[in-house]
Amino acid sequence: MTENTNAKKKRNFKPKAKKNVSKENLGKGTKVGAKKKEIKKAPKKVVSKKEASNEAVVDLKQVENDFSFKKSNLKIIPLGGIEEIGKNITVFEYDNDIIIVDCGVAFPEDDMLGIDLVIPDFTYLVKNQDRIKGLVITHGHEDHIGSIPYLLKEINVPIYATKLTCGLINNKLEEHHLNKVSLNVVNQGQTIVLGKFRVEFIRSCHSIPDSVAIAIHTPVGTVVHTGDFKIDYTPIDDQKIDLGRLAELGNKGVLALLSDSTNSERKGYTMSESTVGEVFNKLFFNCKKRIVVATFASNMHRVQQIVNSAVENNRKIAVCGRSMIRMIETSVELGYIHCPKDLFIDVDMIKNYSDDQLVIITTGSQGEPMSALTRMATGEHRKVNISSNDLVIISASPIPGNEKFVAKVIDDLMKIGAEVVYSALADVHVSGHACQEEQKLMISLVRPKYFIPVHGEYRQLIAHRNTARLMGISAENVLLMKNGKILELNEREAKFTTSVTSGNVMVDGLGVGDVGNIVLRDRQHLSQDGLIIVTVTMDQKGKVVAGPDVISRGFVYVRESENLMEEVKSLVNVELMRCEDNHIKDWSTIKNNIRDVLKDYVLETTKRNPMILPIIEELKN
Ligand SMILES: [Zn+2]
Ligand SMILES: [Zn+2]
Repeated sequence: MTENTNAKKKRNFKPKAKKNVSKENLGKGTKVGAKKKEIKKAPKKVVSKKEASNEAVVDLKQVENDFSFKKSNLKIIPLGGIEEIGKNITVFEYDNDIIIVDCGVAFPEDDMLGIDLVIPDFTYLVKNQDRIKGLVITHGHEDHIGSIPYLLKEINVPIYATKLTCGLINNKLEEHHLNKVSLNVVNQGQTIVLGKFRVEFIRSCHSIPDSVAIAIHTPVGTVVHTGDFKIDYTPIDDQKIDLGRLAELGNKGVLALLSDSTNSERKGYTMSESTVGEVFNKLFFNCKKRIVVATFASNMHRVQQIVNSAVENNRKIAVCGRSMIRMIETSVELGYIHCPKDLFIDVDMIKNYSDDQLVIITTGSQGEPMSALTRMATGEHRKVNISSNDLVIISASPIPGNEKFVAKVIDDLMKIGAEVVYSALADVHVSGHACQEEQKLMISLVRPKYFIPVHGEYRQLIAHRNTARLMGISAENVLLMKNGKILELNEREAKFTTSVTSGNVMVDGLGVGDVGNIVLRDRQHLSQDGLIIVTVTMDQKGKVVAGPDVISRGFVYVRESENLMEEVKSLVNVELMRCEDNHIKDWSTIKNNIRDVLKDYVLETTKRNPMILPIIEELKN
């Protein structure tokens, strides 16, 4: 017992000095510290928890007088995050006032070729921008903050979030050169007034520090939005979710609970994050190899545990992956990761250390754990190559749909001779989201009149609904929202009314929303069947003066298909002559005719359907 306690104390190394990692060590070229001037302290409207409860009485009485005749309905409109993982954004409306909770991105589906990010459709918010009192953020994950720069490029809204979340948002604003933003730090436990809403930030627990659940107090009742949560009784930062406050709200009466459905299909409890640290310690202890840990960039608790084990075993840490470097810099600077000075070294310096003095933390460009590791496994990474003297820990679960890919990376690593530890072999990963028993606890503390599962795909929302039904919430009081659909609530009833514009806006490079279904269809067509380009030069009278020439890509291997390409050429020639004989001079008709003839021929001879692109050039004299 004593031994355990000691071991734990030692592991959770927390030196007093917080800002003690030198910036240079964390990676070149990324600026740190230029952000503070923009982050404001909470505004005047912000009141402390105690003050807030007094004010609540006044507020509600005032409101009762104002609305004694007839109170308005509270409207809840999700613009994303329902029946999907990612792109979380929910609009709350009362009378003329609007607040927004979260503003995240989704990562593209497999069929969204070349798309970098998917953001919500902001049409409704742009139209109603004068009514928006604020954007409230639950935590710093991409699926909750990733779209903020895109929203702010369209409308200016004050943002309210906790310190770490503000720091991470600020990184994004800098990347997008947005500097006239009102970014306001609120503390866990604090309440702010935004128009007719009183918004309370309740300490929560998730895989990133400083996350909150939100209680929105309105004239028709209180709505609790859990944000992403798990119930961890031994969180590594000792910041336990404020179950007491949630119970208090439940006792006073909660109109509706919007709750995280990510793990609603999983029975039991999510294990505590600290269990992963124990496994890390065992793996690190007496290990003579270099240790490489792949994890999500956003999981700062996980990074802290890697830090703890590295410190205890006298290893330095090098970080690969720009998003991870940025996250760690911000977290260290704001005091959310505790580590000794000079623990982090630049990845270029790893050659100066022996294998048993090193830990490499790796992640991908968008924070996904596997992409850089894949390159390391195949010898394509510029800085790190995996060898048989590596212990690779995959401290993550595959993103759904990615399982085959992850299995192949593990195979590749093992073929090199590396020792690989992943979640099927040891408990090197736990989820940041609540399983069924924790979801039940949330429902039983908050005891909402209406239960609304959010943050999940359809089957997850259904599983969460079933859990709520098991707990005695009646079928008509469990509400399944849809993106864009307006849910209207008051003390007596809840009903879906009309809809607002919602949907996916795709971001490709610098283009926002310019790639739509037509472009995507072309990309799919090209990627599956390839391309044939036919070029012809004509003079002004419509006579062919050069060509036709035929080029193809991704269709056939041209050197072995000369006959086919010759046949294509002669078919084009025949079609051009036919057009000339029939006095067809309109280029688009000529192009269509060429396309039709080739399409039939190619399909018949090859059973393939490439994109055919006729180009006619005019000879100018
Ligand atoms: Zn999250
Ligand atoms: Zn989330």
